Amino acid sequence: MASIFRERVLSVHHWTDRQFSFTTTRDPSFRFLNGQFTMIGIEVDGKPLLRAYSMVSANYEEQLEFLSIKVPDGPLTSRLLHIKVGDTLLVNSKAVGTLILQNLLPGKTLYLLSTGTGLAPFMSVIKDPETYEMFEKVVLVHGCREVSELAYDHVITEDLPNNEFFGEQVKEKLIYYPTVTREAFRHQGRVTTLMDTGKLPADIGLPPLDIEHDRVMICGSPEMLRDTKDLLLKRGYREGHMESPGHFVIERAFVEK
Ligand SMILES: Cc1cc2nc3c(=O)[nH]c(=O)nc-3n(C[C@H](O)[C@H](O)[C@H](O)COP(=O)(O)OP(=O)(O)OC[C@H]3O[C@@H](n4cnc5c(N)ncnc54)[C@H](O)[C@@H]3O)c2cc1C
Repeated sequence: MASIFRERVLSVHHWTDRQFSFTTTRDPSFRFLNGQFTMIGIEVDGKPLLRAYSMVSANYEEQLEFLSIKVPDGPLTSRLLHIKVGDTLLVNSKAVGTLILQNLLPGKTLYLLSTGTGLAPFMSVIKDPETYEMFEKVVLVHGCREVSELAYDHVITEDLPNNEFFGEQVKEKLIYYPTVTREAFRHQGRVTTLMDTGKLPADIGLPPLDIEHDRVMICGSPEMLRDTKDLLLKRGYREGHMESPGHFVIERAFVEK
């Protein structure tokens, strides 16, 4: 049965006025698969106020890490953004979610397509050595409005390639493709358009999307999920679930209310 752990906040980092991340202690009995999410939150008027959050940390790490939006009037995040080191974070013991390697059929290239905080589950997927065992190339795509919102770029481009255990595989296999829509940058445009037109694979020297070799995980806004799913279905892709692995898997980065 699920229970709620009381974890201690260990660090807080404000990336922008729209996004922040934090780390906490981790109960040793908390188990999850890389790519999954759980419910986290704080106590308000003596009751837990919880929302779904993906783990940024990998399942072998000692601490938990989360990346959060700041919704100005959001019941949880308007409060959570004030958390500081030493505060208590509630974490539900049950992790779930579809963005896991076992829900995909074997392939050569894994595309991880994200927008905004949809990057979070893919941070744990790219920290998983099994990802590199299963695929020849892993393409992490992160779409944001502005360059300052490209969280964890240093972890992706510096820390992981120098990881003492699987850094060599990261160097050889991980391709990072950040793209922004509202200012000048080396890659610009919407993730869905870049995939649909074939510009993204061409930019990184890979062939156009191909059902035989390419697998896709998607995490973004409801609109981004709908458009990306459409472009994959048009190419014959089938969605994967727990019961039957497929060519792609999807998780909402948030729900529009
Ligand atoms: C499966 C799943 C995983 C999630 N993982 C994360 C995560 O890792 N990090 C995270 O910050 N949020 C995540 N969310 C969203 C999260 O559960 C909350 O909605 C968010 O923390 C805001 O909570 P709130 O109570 O402040 O506002 P809410 O009342 O929950 O949301 C208010 C409105 O804010 C907007 N909104 C909410 N979340 C986001 C977001 N992440 N990005 C852009 N707009 C948003 C939507 O328009 C929503 O209608 C996830 C949601 C789902 C369903």
